[in-house]
Amino acid sequence: MSDSSDVKEVPKELLSASSETVYDAIVVGCGVVGPCIATGLARKGKKVLIVERDWSMPDRIVGELMQPGGLRALRSLGMIQAINNIDAIPVTGYSVFYNGTKVSIPYPFKADAAPVEKIKDLVFDGNDKVVNDGTIKIKEFEEDERERGVGFVHGRFLQNLRDIVANEPNVTRLQGNVIEIMKSKENEVVGARVEIPGRGKEEFKAHLTFVCDGIFSRFRKELSADHVPTVGSSFVGMSLFNADVPSKNHGHVILGTSHMPVLVYQISPEETRILCAYNSPKLPKDIKSWLSNNVKPHLPKSLLPSFEKAVEDGKYRCMPNSYLPAKQNTVTGLCVIGDALNMRHPLTGGGMAVGLNDAALMIKTVGDLDFADRETVLDELLEFNYERKQYDSVINVLSIALYSLFAAEDRFLKVLQRGCFKYFERGGECIRLPVSFLAGVLPKPFLLTKVFFSVALYSIYVNFQERGFVGFPLALLEALAIWYTAARVFTPYLFKELIG
Ligand SMILES: Cc1cc2nc3c(=O)[nH]c(=O)nc-3n(C[C@H](O)[C@H](O)[C@H](O)COP(=O)(O)OP(=O)(O)OC[C@H]3O[C@@H](n4cnc5c(N)ncnc54)[C@H](O)[C@@H]3O)c2cc1C
Repeated sequence: MSDSSDVKEVPKELLSASSETVYDAIVVGCGVVGPCIATGLARKGKKVLIVERDWSMPDRIVGELMQPGGLRALRSLGMIQAINNIDAIPVTGYSVFYNGTKVSIPYPFKADAAPVEKIKDLVFDGNDKVVNDGTIKIKEFEEDERERGVGFVHGRFLQNLRDIVANEPNVTRLQGNVIEIMKSKENEVVGARVEIPGRGKEEFKAHLTFVCDGIFSRFRKELSADHVPTVGSSFVGMSLFNADVPSKNHGHVILGTSHMPVLVYQISPEETRILCAYNSPKLPKDIKSWLSNNVKPHLPKSLLPSFEKAVEDGKYRCMPNSYLPAKQNTVTGLCVIGDALNMRHPLTGGGMAVGLNDAALMIKTVGDLDFADRETVLDELLEFNYERKQYDSVINVLSIALYSLFAAEDRFLKVLQRGCFKYFERGGECIRLPVSFLAGVLPKPFLLTKVFFSVALYSIYVNFQERGFVGFPLALLEALAIWYTAARVFTPYLFKELIG
Protein backbone atom coordinates (compact mmCIF):
# COMPACT_ATOMS: atom_id res chain seq x y z
CA MET A 1 0.00 0.00 0.00
CA SER A 2 1.16 3.54 -0.73
CA ASP A 3 1.37 5.94 2.15
CA SER A 4 -1.63 8.14 2.87
CA SER A 5 0.14 11.41 1.90
CA ASP A 6 -0.03 10.23 -1.76
CA VAL A 7 -3.78 9.70 -1.48
CA LYS A 8 -4.42 13.26 -0.28
CA GLU A 9 -2.75 14.80 -3.31
CA VAL A 10 -4.63 12.80 -5.95
CA PRO A 11 -8.13 14.03 -6.92
CA LYS A 12 -10.80 11.50 -5.94
CA GLU A 13 -12.10 10.99 -9.48
CA LEU A 14 -8.69 9.65 -10.49
CA LEU A 15 -8.86 6.91 -7.89
CA SER A 16 -12.37 5.57 -8.26
CA ALA A 17 -12.18 3.35 -11.41
CA SER A 18 -14.10 0.12 -11.01
CA SER A 19 -12.21 -3.13 -11.38
CA GLU A 20 -15.54 -4.97 -11.82
CA THR A 21 -16.09 -3.55 -15.32
CA VAL A 22 -14.71 -5.29 -18.39
CA TYR A 23 -13.49 -2.37 -20.49
CA ASP A 24 -13.25 -2.41 -24.27
CA ALA A 25 -9.76 -0.98 -23.93
CA ILE A 26 -7.20 -0.18 -21.27
CA VAL A 27 -4.67 2.47 -22.26
CA VAL A 28 -1.41 2.39 -20.29
CA GLY A 29 0.14 5.88 -20.18
CA CYS A 30 -1.31 9.33 -20.77
CA GLY A 31 1.64 11.02 -22.47
CA VAL A 32 1.38 12.15 -26.09
CA VAL A 33 -0.11 9.04 -27.69
CA GLY A 34 -2.22 7.56 -24.87
CA PRO A 35 -4.80 10.38 -24.66
CA CYS A 36 -5.23 10.38 -28.45
CA ILE A 37 -5.91 6.64 -28.51
CA ALA A 38 -8.29 6.91 -25.55
CA THR A 39 -10.16 9.92 -26.99
CA GLY A 40 -10.45 8.38 -30.45
CA LEU A 41 -11.77 5.08 -29.11
CA ALA A 42 -14.19 6.81 -26.75
CA ARG A 43 -15.59 8.88 -29.61
CA LYS A 44 -16.10 5.60 -31.48
CA GLY A 45 -18.27 4.44 -28.56
CA LYS A 46 -15.72 2.25 -26.75
CA LYS A 47 -15.55 2.05 -22.96
CA VAL A 48 -11.98 3.04 -22.11
CA LEU A 49 -9.86 3.00 -18.96
CA ILE A 50 -6.72 5.13 -19.16
CA VAL A 51 -4.10 4.60 -16.48
CA GLU A 52 -1.36 7.17 -15.88
CA ARG A 53 1.09 6.98 -13.02
CA ASP A 54 1.21 10.76 -12.59
CA TRP A 55 -1.48 13.10 -13.86
CA SER A 56 0.27 16.25 -12.65
CA MET A 57 1.99 18.40 -15.27
CA PRO A 58 5.24 16.76 -16.35
CA ASP A 59 8.41 18.79 -16.67
CA ARG A 60 10.41 17.24 -19.52
CA ILE A 61 12.68 18.42 -22.31
CA VAL A 62 11.15 16.10 -24.91
CA GLY A 63 8.36 16.63 -27.45
CA GLU A 64 8.51 20.41 -27.68
CA LEU A 65 8.58 21.03 -31.42
CA MET A 66 5.75 19.47 -33.37
CA GLN A 67 6.24 19.07 -37.09
CA PRO A 68 3.34 19.91 -39.45
CA GLY A 69 2.71 16.16 -39.88
CA GLY A 70 1.92 15.95 -36.15
CA LEU A 71 -0.50 18.88 -36.38
CA ARG A 72 -2.22 17.27 -39.35
CA ALA A 73 -2.73 14.10 -37.31
CA LEU A 74 -4.17 16.15 -34.43
CA ARG A 75 -6.63 17.68 -36.90
CA SER A 76 -7.66 14.21 -38.12
CA LEU A 77 -8.25 13.21 -34.51
CA GLY A 78 -10.24 16.37 -33.75
CA MET A 79 -7.68 17.35 -31.09
CA ILE A 80 -5.77 20.23 -32.69
CA GLN A 81 -6.98 22.67 -30.03
CA ALA A 82 -4.55 21.00 -27.64
CA ILE A 83 -2.01 23.50 -29.01
CA ASN A 84 -4.20 26.44 -27.96
CA ASN A 85 -3.87 28.59 -24.85
CA ILE A 86 -0.40 27.37 -23.97
CA ASP A 87 1.60 30.30 -25.42
CA ALA A 88 2.68 28.03 -28.28
CA ILE A 89 5.02 29.50 -30.86
CA PRO A 90 4.18 28.95 -34.56
CA VAL A 91 7.04 27.41 -36.55
CA THR A 92 7.23 28.27 -40.24
CA GLY A 93 10.43 26.42 -41.17
CA TYR A 94 14.06 25.82 -40.30
CA SER A 95 17.31 27.77 -40.39
CA VAL A 96 20.36 25.61 -40.85
CA PHE A 97 23.77 27.05 -39.94
CA TYR A 98 26.93 25.38 -41.21
CA ASN A 99 30.21 26.79 -39.91
CA GLY A 100 28.37 30.11 -39.46
CA THR A 101 26.69 30.28 -42.92
CA LYS A 102 22.90 30.17 -42.86
CA VAL A 103 20.29 28.63 -45.17
CA SER A 104 16.58 29.30 -44.57
CA ILE A 105 14.25 26.42 -45.29
CA PRO A 106 10.55 27.26 -45.20
CA TYR A 107 8.01 24.49 -44.67
CA PRO A 108 6.38 23.20 -47.87
CA PHE A 109 3.15 24.42 -49.47
CA LYS A 110 -0.07 22.85 -48.17
CA ALA A 111 -1.22 22.36 -51.76
CA ASP A 112 1.63 19.86 -52.33
CA ALA A 113 0.46 17.52 -49.57
CA ALA A 114 -2.55 15.21 -49.47
CA PRO A 115 -5.63 16.79 -47.84
CA VAL A 116 -6.06 16.20 -44.10
CA GLU A 117 -8.45 13.33 -43.46
CA LYS A 118 -11.24 13.90 -40.93
CA ILE A 119 -11.82 10.68 -39.02
CA LYS A 120 -15.52 9.81 -38.79
CA ASP A 121 -17.02 10.41 -35.30
CA LEU A 122 -13.83 12.13 -34.10
CA VAL A 123 -14.05 15.41 -35.97
CA PHE A 124 -17.02 17.66 -35.16
CA ASP A 125 -17.93 21.23 -34.26
CA GLY A 126 -14.73 22.64 -35.78
CA ASN A 127 -12.42 20.64 -33.49
CA ASP A 128 -10.07 20.14 -36.44
CA LYS A 129 -9.28 23.87 -36.51
CA VAL A 130 -7.25 25.98 -34.09
CA VAL A 131 -8.90 28.81 -32.19
CA ASN A 132 -7.47 32.25 -31.60
CA ASP A 133 -5.34 32.82 -28.53
CA GLY A 134 -2.45 35.04 -27.48
CA THR A 135 0.07 33.39 -29.82
CA ILE A 136 -1.91 31.25 -32.30
CA LYS A 137 -4.01 33.04 -34.91
CA ILE A 138 -6.72 31.24 -36.92
CA LYS A 139 -5.97 33.29 -40.00
CA GLU A 140 -2.26 32.43 -40.01
CA PHE A 141 -2.73 28.76 -39.24
CA GLU A 142 -5.71 28.02 -41.45
CA GLU A 143 -5.06 30.37 -44.35
CA ASP A 144 -1.27 30.31 -44.67
CA GLU A 145 -0.43 28.63 -47.97
CA ARG A 146 2.44 26.83 -46.27
CA GLU A 147 2.40 24.14 -43.60
CA ARG A 148 3.08 25.17 -40.02
CA GLY A 149 4.56 23.47 -37.02
CA VAL A 150 4.54 24.63 -33.44
CA GLY A 151 6.85 24.90 -30.42
CA PHE A 152 5.43 24.60 -26.90
CA VAL A 153 6.14 23.70 -23.31
CA HIS A 154 5.66 19.92 -23.39
CA GLY A 155 3.86 19.66 -20.04
CA ARG A 156 1.31 22.32 -20.97
CA PHE A 157 0.52 20.55 -24.24
CA LEU A 158 0.13 17.26 -22.38
CA GLN A 159 -2.25 18.84 -19.88
CA ASN A 160 -4.42 20.03 -22.78
CA LEU A 161 -4.49 16.52 -24.24
CA ARG A 162 -5.38 15.21 -20.79
CA ASP A 163 -8.20 17.78 -20.45
CA ILE A 164 -9.62 16.61 -23.79
CA VAL A 165 -9.58 12.98 -22.68
CA ALA A 166 -11.11 13.92 -19.33
CA ASN A 167 -14.11 15.40 -21.15
CA GLU A 168 -14.96 12.13 -22.91
CA PRO A 169 -17.89 10.46 -21.10
CA ASN A 170 -16.73 6.99 -22.22
CA VAL A 171 -13.33 7.40 -20.58
CA THR A 172 -12.44 6.53 -16.98
CA ARG A 173 -9.16 7.95 -15.78
CA LEU A 174 -7.10 6.23 -13.14
CA GLN A 175 -3.95 7.28 -11.36
CA GLY A 176 -1.74 4.30 -10.78
CA ASN A 177 1.41 2.53 -11.76
CA VAL A 178 0.80 -0.38 -14.11
CA ILE A 179 2.96 -3.17 -12.76
CA GLU A 180 1.94 -6.05 -14.97
CA ILE A 181 0.28 -6.82 -18.27
CA MET A 182 -2.00 -9.73 -17.36
CA LYS A 183 -2.16 -12.83 -19.50
CA SER A 184 -4.46 -15.83 -19.75
CA LYS A 185 -3.25 -19.44 -19.77
CA GLU A 186 -3.24 -19.20 -23.59
CA ASN A 187 -0.79 -16.30 -23.31
CA GLU A 188 -3.37 -13.78 -24.49
CA VAL A 189 -3.41 -10.35 -22.85
CA VAL A 190 -6.51 -9.82 -20.71
CA GLY A 191 -5.78 -6.57 -18.88
CA ALA A 192 -3.40 -4.85 -16.50
CA ARG A 193 -2.47 -5.00 -12.83
CA VAL A 194 -2.24 -1.53 -11.34
CA GLU A 195 -0.83 -0.23 -8.10
CA ILE A 196 -3.17 2.53 -6.99
CA PRO A 197 -2.39 5.01 -4.21
CA GLY A 198 -4.48 4.08 -1.19
CA ARG A 199 -6.06 1.04 -2.90
CA GLY A 200 -3.08 -1.25 -3.42
CA LYS A 201 -2.69 -3.64 -6.35
CA GLU A 202 -5.78 -4.33 -8.43
CA GLU A 203 -6.57 -6.11 -11.65
CA PHE A 204 -8.44 -4.42 -14.51
CA LYS A 205 -9.76 -6.39 -17.45
CA ALA A 206 -10.23 -5.37 -21.09
CA HIS A 207 -10.57 -6.89 -24.54
CA LEU A 208 -7.62 -4.86 -25.80
CA THR A 209 -4.73 -3.32 -23.86
CA PHE A 210 -2.79 -0.45 -25.44
CA VAL A 211 0.74 -0.01 -24.15
CA CYS A 212 1.71 3.67 -24.57
CA ASP A 213 4.27 3.88 -21.76
CA GLY A 214 6.86 5.86 -23.71
CA ILE A 215 10.60 6.00 -24.11
CA PHE A 216 11.49 4.01 -20.98
CA SER A 217 8.67 1.53 -21.62
CA ARG A 218 8.54 -1.35 -19.20
CA PHE A 219 6.02 -3.32 -21.27
CA ARG A 220 7.35 -3.12 -24.84
CA LYS A 221 9.10 -6.41 -24.14
CA GLU A 222 5.64 -8.06 -24.09
CA LEU A 223 5.94 -8.00 -27.88
CA SER A 224 9.26 -9.78 -27.85
CA ALA A 225 12.19 -10.04 -25.44
CA ASP A 226 14.55 -8.53 -28.03
CA HIS A 227 12.42 -5.41 -28.49
CA VAL A 228 15.06 -3.26 -26.82
CA PRO A 229 16.28 0.20 -27.93
CA THR A 230 19.90 1.07 -28.71
CA VAL A 231 21.28 4.33 -27.41
CA GLY A 232 24.10 5.95 -29.38
CA SER A 233 24.07 9.57 -28.26
CA SER A 234 22.53 12.04 -25.83
CA PHE A 235 21.12 15.53 -25.73
CA VAL A 236 22.04 18.03 -23.05
CA GLY A 237 19.17 20.50 -22.80
CA MET A 238 18.82 23.90 -21.19
CA SER A 239 16.21 26.65 -21.11
CA LEU A 240 17.36 29.99 -22.51
CA PHE A 241 15.29 32.86 -21.20
CA ASN A 242 14.48 35.85 -23.40
CA ALA A 243 16.96 34.62 -25.97
CA ASP A 244 17.50 36.66 -29.10
CA VAL A 245 16.94 33.82 -31.60
CA PRO A 246 18.49 34.51 -35.01
CA SER A 247 15.39 33.55 -37.06
CA LYS A 248 12.04 34.11 -35.37
CA ASN A 249 9.50 31.27 -35.79
CA HIS A 250 12.16 28.92 -37.11
CA GLY A 251 13.75 25.81 -35.70
CA HIS A 252 17.55 26.24 -35.73
CA VAL A 253 20.00 23.49 -36.56
CA ILE A 254 23.58 24.58 -35.86
CA LEU A 255 26.17 22.43 -37.60
CA GLY A 256 29.89 22.55 -38.15
CA THR A 257 32.91 20.48 -39.02
CA SER A 258 34.29 20.63 -35.50
CA HIS A 259 31.25 20.20 -33.27
CA MET A 260 28.12 18.17 -32.68
CA PRO A 261 24.73 19.49 -33.84
CA VAL A 262 22.84 21.95 -31.66
CA LEU A 263 19.08 22.54 -31.88
CA VAL A 264 17.41 25.76 -30.81
CA TYR A 265 13.70 26.55 -30.88
CA GLN A 266 11.34 28.79 -28.98
CA ILE A 267 8.78 27.01 -26.80
CA SER A 268 7.05 30.06 -25.32
CA PRO A 269 7.37 33.84 -25.67
CA GLU A 270 10.05 33.79 -22.91
CA GLU A 271 11.61 30.35 -23.13
CA THR A 272 13.81 28.85 -25.82
CA ARG A 273 14.99 25.26 -25.75
CA ILE A 274 18.57 24.44 -26.64
CA LEU A 275 19.51 20.80 -27.13
CA CYS A 276 23.21 20.06 -27.57
CA ALA A 277 24.11 16.66 -29.00
CA TYR A 278 26.82 14.59 -27.34
CA ASN A 279 27.96 11.66 -29.42
CA SER A 280 27.83 9.06 -26.66
CA PRO A 281 25.26 7.80 -24.18
CA LYS A 282 27.84 8.46 -21.45
CA LEU A 283 27.92 12.17 -20.75
CA PRO A 284 31.04 14.32 -20.20
CA LYS A 285 32.12 14.43 -16.54
CA ASP A 286 32.08 18.21 -16.38
CA ILE A 287 29.04 19.25 -18.41
CA LYS A 288 29.43 22.92 -17.55
CA SER A 289 32.94 23.08 -19.03
CA TRP A 290 31.86 21.04 -22.05
CA LEU A 291 29.02 23.51 -22.73
CA SER A 292 31.37 26.48 -22.37
CA ASN A 293 34.28 25.07 -24.35
CA ASN A 294 32.69 22.81 -26.94
CA VAL A 295 29.27 24.32 -27.62
CA LYS A 296 29.41 28.05 -26.91
CA PRO A 297 32.10 28.95 -29.50
CA HIS A 298 29.86 27.63 -32.30
CA LEU A 299 26.63 29.43 -31.41
CA PRO A 300 25.29 32.50 -33.21
CA LYS A 301 26.35 35.64 -31.31
CA SER A 302 22.80 36.74 -30.50
CA LEU A 303 22.29 33.62 -28.37
CA LEU A 304 25.37 34.08 -26.21
CA PRO A 305 23.98 36.24 -23.36
CA SER A 306 21.10 33.85 -22.63
CA PHE A 307 23.33 30.80 -23.14
CA GLU A 308 26.00 32.07 -20.75
CA LYS A 309 23.34 32.82 -18.14
CA ALA A 310 21.87 29.32 -18.51
CA VAL A 311 25.29 27.69 -18.13
CA GLU A 312 25.97 29.84 -15.08
CA ASP A 313 22.65 28.76 -13.55
CA GLY A 314 23.68 25.16 -14.26
CA LYS A 315 20.15 23.89 -14.86
CA TYR A 316 20.86 21.44 -17.63
CA ARG A 317 19.08 18.15 -18.18
CA CYS A 318 20.17 15.15 -20.19
CA MET A 319 18.25 12.61 -22.24
CA PRO A 320 19.44 9.51 -24.07
CA ASN A 321 18.67 9.39 -27.80
CA SER A 322 17.29 5.95 -28.52
CA TYR A 323 16.62 4.04 -31.70
CA LEU A 324 14.08 1.24 -31.87
CA PRO A 325 12.60 -0.15 -35.07
CA ALA A 326 8.99 -1.29 -34.69
CA LYS A 327 7.87 -4.88 -34.22
CA GLN A 328 4.63 -6.50 -35.33
CA ASN A 329 1.81 -6.57 -32.76
CA THR A 330 1.32 -10.36 -32.73
CA VAL A 331 -0.04 -10.94 -29.22
CA THR A 332 -3.82 -11.30 -28.96
CA GLY A 333 -5.32 -8.58 -26.80
CA LEU A 334 -2.21 -6.37 -26.89
CA CYS A 335 -1.24 -3.32 -28.90
CA VAL A 336 2.06 -1.53 -28.32
CA ILE A 337 2.24 1.97 -29.84
CA GLY A 338 4.10 5.29 -29.56
CA ASP A 339 7.69 5.34 -28.28
CA ALA A 340 7.07 1.97 -26.66
CA LEU A 341 6.84 0.55 -30.17
CA ASN A 342 9.20 2.65 -32.23
CA MET A 343 11.82 5.35 -31.64
CA ARG A 344 14.10 7.42 -33.82
CA HIS A 345 16.72 10.16 -33.28
CA PRO A 346 15.09 13.30 -31.83
CA LEU A 347 17.28 15.56 -34.04
CA THR A 348 14.45 16.00 -36.57
CA GLY A 349 11.66 16.36 -33.98
CA GLY A 350 9.60 13.59 -35.57
CA GLY A 351 8.57 11.46 -32.58
CA MET A 352 5.20 13.08 -31.94
CA ALA A 353 4.38 13.15 -35.68
CA VAL A 354 4.98 9.39 -35.83
CA GLY A 355 3.07 8.68 -32.61
CA LEU A 356 0.09 10.85 -33.55
CA ASN A 357 -0.12 9.53 -37.10
CA ASP A 358 0.00 6.02 -35.68
CA ALA A 359 -2.79 6.94 -33.26
CA ALA A 360 -4.94 8.30 -36.12
CA LEU A 361 -4.22 5.23 -38.26
CA MET A 362 -4.99 2.95 -35.32
CA ILE A 363 -8.43 4.52 -34.77
CA LYS A 364 -9.20 4.26 -38.48
CA THR A 365 -8.09 0.61 -38.51
CA VAL A 366 -9.74 -0.77 -35.37
CA GLY A 367 -12.09 1.97 -34.16
CA ASP A 368 -15.23 0.45 -35.69
CA LEU A 369 -14.51 -3.17 -34.72
CA ASP A 370 -16.06 -5.06 -31.83
CA PHE A 371 -13.07 -5.52 -29.49
CA ALA A 372 -14.61 -8.69 -28.07
CA ASP A 373 -13.81 -10.27 -31.46
CA ARG A 374 -10.13 -10.52 -30.58
CA GLU A 375 -9.03 -12.47 -33.64
CA THR A 376 -10.39 -9.91 -36.10
CA VAL A 377 -8.78 -7.15 -34.03
CA LEU A 378 -5.43 -8.97 -34.17
CA ASP A 379 -5.70 -9.31 -37.96
CA GLU A 380 -6.33 -5.60 -38.24
CA LEU A 381 -3.38 -4.85 -35.95
CA LEU A 382 -1.16 -6.73 -38.39
CA GLU A 383 -2.61 -4.55 -41.14
CA PHE A 384 -1.84 -1.46 -39.02
CA ASN A 385 1.79 -2.52 -38.67
CA TYR A 386 2.06 -2.83 -42.43
CA GLU A 387 0.22 0.42 -43.23
CA ARG A 388 2.23 2.58 -40.82
CA LYS A 389 5.58 1.84 -42.47
CA GLN A 390 5.05 4.19 -45.39
CA TYR A 391 4.73 7.26 -43.17
CA ASP A 392 6.92 6.32 -40.24
CA SER A 393 9.89 4.92 -42.18
CA VAL A 394 10.50 8.30 -43.82
CA ILE A 395 10.71 10.19 -40.53
CA ASN A 396 12.68 7.46 -38.77
CA VAL A 397 15.27 6.83 -41.47
CA LEU A 398 15.71 10.54 -42.15
CA SER A 399 16.42 11.20 -38.46
CA ILE A 400 19.11 8.53 -38.27
CA ALA A 401 20.72 9.41 -41.59
CA LEU A 402 20.79 13.14 -40.85
CA TYR A 403 22.21 12.58 -37.38
CA SER A 404 25.00 10.45 -38.87
CA LEU A 405 25.84 13.25 -41.30
CA PHE A 406 25.40 16.16 -38.91
CA ALA A 407 27.39 14.54 -36.09
CA ALA A 408 30.07 13.41 -38.55
CA GLU A 409 33.37 12.40 -37.03
CA ASP A 410 34.53 10.23 -39.91
CA ARG A 411 36.20 11.93 -42.91
CA PHE A 412 33.69 10.76 -45.52
CA LEU A 413 30.70 11.60 -43.38
CA LYS A 414 32.13 15.10 -43.14
CA VAL A 415 32.21 15.27 -46.96
CA LEU A 416 28.56 14.21 -46.97
CA GLN A 417 27.77 16.80 -44.31
CA ARG A 418 29.31 19.58 -46.40
CA GLY A 419 27.63 18.23 -49.55
CA CYS A 420 24.27 18.15 -47.80
CA PHE A 421 24.55 21.80 -46.77
CA LYS A 422 25.65 22.84 -50.26
CA TYR A 423 22.70 20.87 -51.66
CA PHE A 424 20.37 22.92 -49.45
CA GLU A 425 22.07 26.10 -50.65
CA ARG A 426 20.91 25.33 -54.18
CA GLY A 427 17.31 25.97 -53.05
CA GLY A 428 14.22 24.97 -55.08
CA GLU A 429 13.60 21.20 -55.15
CA CYS A 430 16.82 20.71 -53.16
CA ILE A 431 15.08 22.13 -50.11
CA ARG A 432 11.42 21.48 -50.97
CA LEU A 433 11.73 17.70 -50.89
CA PRO A 434 14.02 17.34 -47.84
CA VAL A 435 11.87 19.71 -45.77
CA SER A 436 8.70 17.89 -46.85
CA PHE A 437 10.16 14.65 -45.47
CA LEU A 438 11.24 16.40 -42.29
CA ALA A 439 7.84 18.07 -41.87
CA GLY A 440 6.13 14.69 -42.07
CA VAL A 441 3.99 15.54 -45.10
CA LEU A 442 5.64 13.41 -47.79
CA PRO A 443 5.37 9.73 -46.81
CA LYS A 444 7.36 8.32 -49.71
CA PRO A 445 10.31 6.18 -48.57
CA PHE A 446 11.57 5.48 -52.09
CA LEU A 447 11.58 9.16 -52.98
CA LEU A 448 13.52 9.75 -49.74
CA THR A 449 16.04 7.15 -50.91
CA LYS A 450 16.39 8.91 -54.26
CA VAL A 451 16.90 12.31 -52.60
CA PHE A 452 19.41 10.92 -50.08
CA PHE A 453 21.54 9.39 -52.81
CA SER A 454 21.24 12.58 -54.88
CA VAL A 455 22.81 14.34 -51.89
CA ALA A 456 25.55 11.69 -51.87
CA LEU A 457 26.20 12.23 -55.61
CA TYR A 458 26.26 15.98 -55.11
CA SER A 459 28.74 15.55 -52.25
CA ILE A 460 30.98 13.53 -54.56
CA TYR A 461 30.73 16.29 -57.17
CA VAL A 462 31.61 18.96 -54.59
CA ASN A 463 34.57 16.84 -53.49
CA PHE A 464 35.81 16.59 -57.10
CA GLN A 465 35.53 20.36 -57.43
CA GLU A 466 37.48 20.93 -54.23
CA ARG A 467 40.23 18.43 -55.09
CA GLY A 468 40.73 20.10 -58.47
CA PHE A 469 42.59 18.71 -61.47
CA VAL A 470 45.62 17.49 -59.52
CA GLY A 471 43.49 15.75 -56.92
CA PHE A 472 41.30 13.99 -59.50
CA PRO A 473 42.65 10.41 -58.94
CA LEU A 474 42.24 10.80 -55.16
CA ALA A 475 38.71 12.22 -55.58
CA LEU A 476 37.88 9.20 -57.73
CA LEU A 477 38.87 6.82 -54.95
CA GLU A 478 37.10 8.98 -52.40
CA ALA A 479 33.92 8.88 -54.51
CA LEU A 480 33.65 5.16 -53.84
CA ALA A 481 34.21 5.64 -50.12
CA ILE A 482 31.64 8.46 -49.96
CA TRP A 483 29.06 6.36 -51.79
CA TYR A 484 29.75 3.39 -49.53
CA THR A 485 29.47 5.60 -46.43
CA ALA A 486 26.13 7.02 -47.62
CA ALA A 487 24.79 3.50 -48.23
CA ARG A 488 26.05 2.41 -44.79
CA VAL A 489 24.21 5.14 -42.86
CA PHE A 490 20.98 4.84 -44.82
CA THR A 491 20.24 1.42 -46.28
CA PRO A 492 20.29 -0.80 -43.15
CA TYR A 493 17.84 1.55 -41.41
CA LEU A 494 15.51 1.69 -44.40
CA PHE A 495 15.61 -2.07 -44.54
CA LYS A 496 14.85 -2.41 -40.81
CA GLU A 497 11.95 0.04 -41.04
CA LEU A 498 10.34 -1.40 -44.15
CA ILE A 499 11.01 -5.08 -43.70
CA GLY A 500 11.10 -5.41 -39.88
C1 LIG B 1 15.60 14.49 -26.04
C2 LIG B 1 14.33 14.26 -26.80
C3 LIG B 1 13.74 15.32 -27.46
C4 LIG B 1 12.57 15.11 -28.20
N1 LIG B 1 12.03 16.17 -28.87
C5 LIG B 1 10.97 15.96 -29.68
C6 LIG B 1 10.44 17.03 -30.44
O1 LIG B 1 10.89 18.18 -30.37
N2 LIG B 1 9.40 16.76 -31.27
C7 LIG B 1 8.83 15.52 -31.35
O2 LIG B 1 7.88 15.33 -32.11
N3 LIG B 1 9.30 14.50 -30.60
C8 LIG B 1 10.35 14.68 -29.78
N4 LIG B 1 10.82 13.66 -29.01
C9 LIG B 1 10.09 12.37 -29.01
C10 LIG B 1 8.76 12.49 -28.24
O3 LIG B 1 8.99 13.00 -26.96
C11 LIG B 1 8.12 11.12 -28.15
O4 LIG B 1 8.04 10.56 -29.45
C12 LIG B 1 6.71 11.18 -27.55
O5 LIG B 1 6.72 11.77 -26.28
C13 LIG B 1 6.17 9.74 -27.45
O6 LIG B 1 4.90 9.75 -26.88
P1 LIG B 1 4.38 8.49 -26.04
O7 LIG B 1 2.98 8.79 -25.68
O8 LIG B 1 4.71 7.25 -26.74
O9 LIG B 1 5.27 8.47 -24.73
P2 LIG B 1 5.33 9.56 -23.57
O10 LIG B 1 4.95 10.90 -24.09
O11 LIG B 1 6.67 9.40 -22.96
O12 LIG B 1 4.21 9.10 -22.54
C14 LIG B 1 4.34 7.93 -21.76
C15 LIG B 1 3.40 8.08 -20.57
O13 LIG B 1 3.27 6.82 -19.92
C16 LIG B 1 3.30 7.01 -18.54
N5 LIG B 1 3.75 5.73 -17.94
C17 LIG B 1 4.94 5.12 -18.15
N6 LIG B 1 4.99 3.96 -17.47
C18 LIG B 1 3.80 3.83 -16.84
C19 LIG B 1 3.25 2.82 -15.99
N7 LIG B 1 3.94 1.74 -15.67
N8 LIG B 1 2.01 3.01 -15.50
C20 LIG B 1 1.28 4.12 -15.82
N9 LIG B 1 1.76 5.09 -16.62
C21 LIG B 1 3.00 4.96 -17.14
C22 LIG B 1 4.29 8.15 -18.33
O14 LIG B 1 4.10 8.79 -17.08
C23 LIG B 1 3.92 9.05 -19.53
O15 LIG B 1 2.93 9.98 -19.18
C24 LIG B 1 11.99 13.82 -28.26
C25 LIG B 1 12.57 12.75 -27.58
C26 LIG B 1 13.74 12.96 -26.86
C27 LIG B 1 14.39 11.79 -26.18
